Amino acid sequence: MGTASYNSVVVDLDALYDNFRTVCSRLEPGVKVMAVVKADAYGHGLEEAAGAFARAGACCFGVGTAEDGARLRRAGITGDIVPLLGFEPGDAAEVVEHALSPVVFDPTGLAELSRQAVRRGRVAAVHLKLDVGMGRFGVAPEAFAHVLAVIDELPGLHLAGTMAHFPLADMDDEEGVCRQQWRLLSSVAAKLQPAANGRPILHMANSAALLRFPWAHGDLVRPGIALYGYSPLPALLCPSPELRPAMSLRSRVLQVKELPAGHGVSYGQRFVTPGPTRLAVLPVGYADGYPRGVSGRAEVLIGGRRVPLRGTICMNACMADITDLPAVTPGDEVVFLGRQGEQFIGADEIAAWHGTISYEILCRIGTMNHRIYRSHYTKESEQK
Ligand SMILES: *Cc1c(COP(=O)(O)O)cnc(C)c1O
Repeated sequence: MGTASYNSVVVDLDALYDNFRTVCSRLEPGVKVMAVVKADAYGHGLEEAAGAFARAGACCFGVGTAEDGARLRRAGITGDIVPLLGFEPGDAAEVVEHALSPVVFDPTGLAELSRQAVRRGRVAAVHLKLDVGMGRFGVAPEAFAHVLAVIDELPGLHLAGTMAHFPLADMDDEEGVCRQQWRLLSSVAAKLQPAANGRPILHMANSAALLRFPWAHGDLVRPGIALYGYSPLPALLCPSPELRPAMSLRSRVLQVKELPAGHGVSYGQRFVTPGPTRLAVLPVGYADGYPRGVSGRAEVLIGGRRVPLRGTICMNACMADITDLPAVTPGDEVVFLGRQGEQFIGADEIAAWHGTISYEILCRIGTMNHRIYRSHYTKESEQK
């Protein structure tokens, strides 16, 4: 994918492992962790990332769909796998077959799930989701009792957990509202009768709530972005814990050229050289997940230094100003995301140039490039 022969996303599996341990170190004993690996593990690769978290001790994984859950089972992942997007009736057989524990946010599909479980002599675990203000997946508080009753009455279903999602956990002033939303989930869950096989677990905390609100850890926390090495919070709100970004995007200089003063650069010639200028032409563009919208603001790392990109970013190319770096030659390494020597460009920084969040940068760069996996803890491996 992309300009595969020149560019690589390098994923540091040891960073994923260490981030999982770091997250665990912030929890009271007994609180479990769901490693969220939806969206191809935020672009890091579903099976590889889940494998690293499993080696670090993860025994619960949040995926997108039932199909993603099946992929993890085929990769040998044991433990709980929770499809966060629920399931459709047509997926019910697969859910039971692979012992997935989907999120449920309405009664659709429950009868079919029950039928498939009973037919196989199995019990299908589900997590019932309450909408406490997200306006997304989740049962309205008024409808919660009804869906509970459906789960209760159908044979072969087991309520493994009740959950909700914080819409405001990364917002400066909203701790009071977050507490109310947590109380709403807790009060609804408190009314549940413990079933023969135990009380359903309670979970609500994403990375932001995990880092900020120890009172919201419940029985299980659901970090995503923190496991990939980024804090969802502004540094002021919560000093960043020892998280290590795992993804980098590396490429090479394809051509070096000298332009005279007054020469246009790239489509629209929005950059005109103010004087004699050396440019490095780089084989990375928006088709490689590097957003065109960062044109005019972006920097990359060459020779251990930060240099600005010039002109509009193209489909598979962009130009860096290396006027101050006379030693750069074709073939030299260029880092778009990640570390080179003393310098570092994080997904947060690229996101700020683009008016988005680190999550989106990781997803697009990670899924649009050839990925290479590095680990000193285990052997190196590679995947397309
Ligand atoms: C994506 C997701 C998470 C993880 O969120 P982060 O902000 O990445 O920690 C947690 N819970 C649910 C339901 C999610 O969809």
